[in-house]
Amino acid sequence: MEKLDLLYEGKAKKVFATDDPDALIVDYKDDATAFNGLKKGTIVGKGVINNRMTNHVFQLLEKEGVPTHFIQELSDRETLVKRVEIVPLEVIIRNVAAGSFSKRLGVPEGTLFEEPTIEFSYKNDDLGDPLINDYFARALNLATWEEIETIKKYAFKVNEVLKAYFLQAGIKLIDFKIEFGRFHGQIILADETSPDTCRLWDVNTNEKLDKDRFRRDLGNVEEAYNEVFSRLGL
Ligand code: UDP
Repeated sequence: MEKLDLLYEGKAKKVFATDDPDALIVDYKDDATAFNGLKKGTIVGKGVINNRMTNHVFQLLEKEGVPTHFIQELSDRETLVKRVEIVPLEVIIRNVAAGSFSKRLGVPEGTLFEEPTIEFSYKNDDLGDPLINDYFARALNLATWEEIETIKKYAFKVNEVLKAYFLQAGIKLIDFKIEFGRFHGQIILADETSPDTCRLWDVNTNEKLDKDRFRRDLGNVEEAYNEVFSRLGL
């Protein structure tokens, strides 16, 4: 597999073409951003952790019936993935109130929901990823109804698998963001699942073990990422 041109450089990853038109190489960086790029920094070792963790989680999800873009881990920061057309939706599942949900709706952080909830944001940096619903997604023609239903079904399945996966490591899955893509017409899970994209709290102390430590200047950012990495035995 040959690594060819840099196609795209995002906030946390670089994406390269390969000699296979159906495959890309993702290269995870240590760069961290928050608040739509307003806050910038580095989390040393984050790229290695997010690469390894995403690949482990995606392989677990495949076994549980959720198709993903994962093909093969190439190095500690690089992974071969299926080339998809990203559906421009940020799909957020929440088990416990936190972040923008708490702020928008006045629900204290840490309030456990009776059932998990789903929300969609329109992936558009210029607009600041605005919150939308599934009818807005249709109005903007971001996906078909069938795709939206598939996305919802997979997202809740990801939640069930990940909740159990983290719990056995003493970690509560508060919420997370995932993204999907189309590969030869099929919806598959793409992007990443890592402490950058999940809220992870210690099951006993509720200590935050995720990117909120960076967003909110809580300190011990690297330590938190390393703690998750080692608890999961990665
Ligand atoms: N999230 C993400 N990327 C984003 C926005 C949110 O990965 O651009 C994740 C975030 O880490 C959290 C979940 O989605 O696990 C819900 O985030 P929320 O809507 O509460 O937004 P925030 O408070 O981070 O602005």
